[in-house]
Amino acid sequence: MARKRIVSPTASDEDRRSDLALRPKTLGEFIGQTAVKENLSIAIEAASLRQEALDHVLLYGPPGLGKTTLATIIANELQVRCDYTSGPVLQKKLDLTGMLTSMESRQVFFIDEIHRLLPDLEEMLYSSLEDYRVDLVVGTGPGARMHSIPVTPFTAIGATTRQGLISAPLRARFGITLRINPYDAVDLTRIVFRSAGLLNIDVREEAAEEIARRSRGTPRIANRLLRRVRDYAEVRADGRVDSEIACTALDMLEVDPLGLDEVDRKIMETILAKYAGGPVGLNTISASVGEDPSTIEEVYEPYLMELGFLDRTPRGRVGTALAFDHFDLQQPRGRQPTLKF
Ligand code: ADP
Repeated sequence: MARKRIVSPTASDEDRRSDLALRPKTLGEFIGQTAVKENLSIAIEAASLRQEALDHVLLYGPPGLGKTTLATIIANELQVRCDYTSGPVLQKKLDLTGMLTSMESRQVFFIDEIHRLLPDLEEMLYSSLEDYRVDLVVGTGPGARMHSIPVTPFTAIGATTRQGLISAPLRARFGITLRINPYDAVDLTRIVFRSAGLLNIDVREEAAEEIARRSRGTPRIANRLLRRVRDYAEVRADGRVDSEIACTALDMLEVDPLGLDEVDRKIMETILAKYAGGPVGLNTISASVGEDPSTIEEVYEPYLMELGFLDRTPRGRVGTALAFDHFDLQQPRGRQPTLKF
């Protein structure tokens, strides 16, 4: 993993391996997101009592907050099978047909990045979500005929980082829509402790708090920073993670006290220093930072906006007075936005 990506919430291969060990398996083990858990536990209990498939669920929110984990938990709580796929992986109607028609009764079908489904497949999904059937056209030209294949009632769980990109008809098929928000420091500290316990890491309270503070409200980042801090503690000390070890290791990884890394700093430097606070177009920032525009938009900007460092305006990105202060830069007087894009 490139060092500058240490606070990126998207999963690396190492994260995926460690996810298996760290993923909570029941709603009780899942930390935080009280309202989401409450909604789900009522819906799960009601569906179980009626022995019916749970309504389709749409989970949306930034990466690394627990959407896949929740899908697995829902299947566990319902005591049913869970099949996993994702929008970009599903390329052919036949693949989706195969998955839908081999479904077990009431099982969970998890579709990650559902906003990236191809239009053809999205259409096929509509009818299977609503009427539990798959419509297939067999043959071509005047001889073509429509075949309807029944699908056993199941629960689709769609996950997305971009709710706005899901078409209204698809969104309407989900009876339960839940937003997953970034975690506060208290919940993240509990997550760090839980993971430390599972990984047999001796971590002091202030150290867990320090890791939580620098994790951008994201459990995946908290778990990753914990593993890196453990490496440092094992190699440079006796393995125990206290606050001094945690701070030194995190500073070495160039994750600052707010959880900002090199890419965040480059984005803010572009807006504040190069373009006098903006507005600056997304593509200009992308070229200057060397990151994909969608990664900047989905991964980096939400946290910078949450910190109050950045505003999105119709004319481009604008740095705030708070950001000038934090980066110790002088805000241009009577700033006239310069259009440089
Ligand atoms: P997403 O699907 O939203 O990208 P994941 O479900 O893959 O996120 O979660 C990333 C990691 O964070 C998982 O390994 C899981 O262990 C951990 N995690 C997420 N949410 C929680 C939580 N509420 N409590 C404990 N661990 C969590």
